[in-house]
Amino acid sequence: MTAEIICVGTELLLGQIVNTDAQYLGRKLSAMGIDMYHQTVVGDNEARLLAALDEAFHRSDVIILTGGLGPTSDDITKETVAKYLGLSLHMHEGSLKRMRRRFQHMAQPMVKANLKQAMIPGGARVLDNDKGTAPGCILEEKGKTFIILPGPPFEMEDMFDKRVAPYLAGRTGEEIVSRVLRIYGIGESALEEELEDLIEGQTNPTIAPYAGTGEVTLRLTAKAGTAEEANALLDPLEARIRDRLEDRVYAMGEETLDKLAARLLMEENVTFALAESCTGGLLASKLVDNPGISQVFLEGLVTYSNESKVKRLHVSPETLDYNGAVSAKCAEEMAEGLLETSGAELALSVTGVAGPGGGVDAKPVGLVFIGMAQKGEETKVHQLYLTGDRRRVQNGAMLHAFDWVRR
Ligand code: ATP
Ligand code: MG
Repeated sequence: MTAEIICVGTELLLGQIVNTDAQYLGRKLSAMGIDMYHQTVVGDNEARLLAALDEAFHRSDVIILTGGLGPTSDDITKETVAKYLGLSLHMHEGSLKRMRRRFQHMAQPMVKANLKQAMIPGGARVLDNDKGTAPGCILEEKGKTFIILPGPPFEMEDMFDKRVAPYLAGRTGEEIVSRVLRIYGIGESALEEELEDLIEGQTNPTIAPYAGTGEVTLRLTAKAGTAEEANALLDPLEARIRDRLEDRVYAMGEETLDKLAARLLMEENVTFALAESCTGGLLASKLVDNPGISQVFLEGLVTYSNESKVKRLHVSPETLDYNGAVSAKCAEEMAEGLLETSGAELALSVTGVAGPGGGVDAKPVGLVFIGMAQKGEETKVHQLYLTGDRRRVQNGAMLHAFDWVRR
């Protein structure tokens, strides 16, 4: 089965918004084992949308459209698909009722223009919208399938996951099972090299590496008649990969390093504090995204200046003079000072040169020290040479710190 995507919206063409709908659908469809060879972006223009539909019709089995389901006159997707297929639109009473209830609930008046959102092409299967007003729909016509979804990502994603994915899975007649292994401590190309013999020639299961900022994921996907059979294909492959990568595989599924670190700190009930210099509160900000962290997170200080490091963390002025703020000694004293002042069981410190300026030969941009002090244990410092721009250096320091915490 082949699918393609047509994203409708002039604002996409003008670069005013990023096409995350296409990204989301691309990821989901490939994970389901559905081949996608084309993506199109087209403005809110009937003639050009008709042309895009015609092209898609002749080369794909499933055509997914996003955007243009709103109440305004530039929202023309359903009308244009109906016109292309020679269908008329009719009022869908169920959707109209849902919309009325929604507007009542929001205590907003429903204007006449909204009525158009409940108009559906004849013969279409309606997809309820739990996150917004405009319903989507599926049309099976002339041997092809058209799936029309709203543009706003949180509406589109919800509708796709709940209603479209099960529909498509039913169509393929196969069970597709995916597992995502999350990996830290090895780059994408090194990872591919290490797994070359496994990746090469794989068709079922497939192995797809994906590099985010600093973390790499491997998606293993198997197709079979039943989920059980698909899992039986995945088990030995996963075991071989884990065996080879050892503890660099840190999680499976959606759990990112920051979430994992937060979960472990909470589960083990370890109170902790942070003293950040070059990351400016990034670690603290990531950790407080996790509900319940207040149970163990005592405080996070952004000790940016030398004075602050002395005053708040009792770093010695001599260390700052002789070793400098970016040094193992400073990271050590920061962590130890924080352990004492905060009363936490675990104290982490970060100091480094995030760049782009400030680097010198002895202390280049990307040089970062992370200190970890724990009650009753010797303080340890890790020295990192990170690459990339300011954001990447800060992010790299954060990931390393969280990877250290989980170990
Ligand atoms: P609305 O009822 O909000 O008008 P709609 O279904 O008509 O929804 P559009 O008008 O095309 O959708 O887009 C509405 C908003 O949704 C856009 O301004 C944009 O913020 C977001 N959006 C639309 N298409 C995409 C896309 N492909 N990727 C990311 N965001 C999108
Ligand atoms: Mg719109």
